[in-house]
Amino acid sequence: MSADIKESKGKLPTVVLAGRPNVGKSTLFNRLIKSNRAITHDRPGVTRDRMEGVARRPGYRPFIIVDTGGVTLDANDALAEGPDDNRGFESDILRQMDAALDSAQAVAFVVDGRAGLLPLDESLAEHIRRRNLPALCVVNKIDGPEKEDLQLAEFHALGFPLLAVSAEHGYNVKALFEDLEAMLPTGDSDGENWTEELPEKPVLRLAMLGKPNAGKSSLINAIAGEERMIVSDVAGTTRDSVDVRFDIDGKIYEFVDTAGIRRKSRITDEVEKFSVNSALKTTSKADVTLLVIDGTEEPSQQDKRLTTLLSARKTPFMILVNKSDLLPRDKLARLKKEFADSFGGLLYAPILMVSAKTGANLNKILPLAEKIHEECAIRVGTGQLNRAMREALERHQPPIVNRSRAKFFYLTQAESEPPTFVFFVSDADRVPETYARYLEKALRGMFGLNYAPMRLNFRSSHKKTKK
Ligand code: GDP
Ligand code: GDP
Repeated sequence: MSADIKESKGKLPTVVLAGRPNVGKSTLFNRLIKSNRAITHDRPGVTRDRMEGVARRPGYRPFIIVDTGGVTLDANDALAEGPDDNRGFESDILRQMDAALDSAQAVAFVVDGRAGLLPLDESLAEHIRRRNLPALCVVNKIDGPEKEDLQLAEFHALGFPLLAVSAEHGYNVKALFEDLEAMLPTGDSDGENWTEELPEKPVLRLAMLGKPNAGKSSLINAIAGEERMIVSDVAGTTRDSVDVRFDIDGKIYEFVDTAGIRRKSRITDEVEKFSVNSALKTTSKADVTLLVIDGTEEPSQQDKRLTTLLSARKTPFMILVNKSDLLPRDKLARLKKEFADSFGGLLYAPILMVSAKTGANLNKILPLAEKIHEECAIRVGTGQLNRAMREALERHQPPIVNRSRAKFFYLTQAESEPPTFVFFVSDADRVPETYARYLEKALRGMFGLNYAPMRLNFRSSHKKTKK
């Protein structure tokens, strides 16, 4: 499915980093893309990432570099420990490499100069040769020049041109870039024009919050599905992605700050530290926040605290009650109401019962998030505002407080995101909370603000000076 990446990124040629686990592919990958934007491909249920990034150097054509990743840590360990039969992993690695090669214009076949030529190297090389793609054998971990020739010698047998590098020390990384760039087809020869296009801006940035094990990672994988994931940053030399982008029907979405979600200890237990501060920071980077709650449990104190905080801060958000597949079907509506009640009846955030496992309601998440985002940006003209105000006042006049009613003069919209409305009144102290809530509800109804946060302010125009 790499056609879409060329479409969405402009047409950049692709180089695949192939090779068995632990030869240093991801270290090289990070060297090659430096701090450039990277792209990763996550598949639900598959515990590895396929990383893609753009390699650029001044004066050279940029190209996409794909790190086929290899296998999971577990598989890696198993390989290293060498169980008698690691055929299973071998075929996994081959499959991943083959899929990546389908979209490649060139291959960098990485081997470990210290470990020497291994049988798995040979079988991977065999596959690569069959592709007839331009290929370079990158002999990595040549950390000093002393034994370079000796370490390279046995790899000549593979039949590819060789280049000695040290990903760790940066030795020959520039030469590697130049060699790879030189292997790529020029646009004209096969009728394709490799051009560069700036990465598009996401239409929507999303933050995902929730307790460990609520299902955040599963949801991200399920929502992004088989689509491309683009990571805008690769932190250090780890594979942790920070922002995950994906493309659905030509629209780019982004989950911000996913590192915390994906970097998980093996034993995720209930006591895992959960920082409200960092949650709120993440939220402020996003257009809409998704708060994920495990539907099989009662809403926790933490869930309630976060909901209260998000509401108080007027954060655009929705609540996803996940694992609906484990909830009794006939009781979903009642459960949804129970959840809503436990967060207080005034919640503006919508609640969706979803299942990352079965996919139930997942298709509603992005449209709903977009709706919330649109609502936040609403701008209401003065004429409409004041008609709305009069209508609301007529339906229910302000209550008498201290023997008189507040007079309402006019209404303006002071801000959007969140929509903020200011009522100019004779005496703001005479507008009780209940009436303010009535007005909020009325305006929401009239302006179609169903899910966005909203602020109402009351300003006294002719406030009597207090004695
Ligand atoms: P991958 O599984 O092929 O992506 O390999 P990694 O990039 O994760 O590297 C595997 C191990 O080799 C890591 O411990 C790296 O630190 C180490 N490594 C990578 N490049 C070099 C290098 O040039 N020299 C040495 N000595 N170690 C390296
Ligand atoms: P995170 O810690 O919030 O990222 O949670 P994970 O995505 O890792 O999910 C935690 C556990 O819940 C995993 O065992 C998932 O397989 C499981 N899980 C996630 N979503 C669902 C769901 O919709 N239904 C069921 N039955 N299990 C789920």
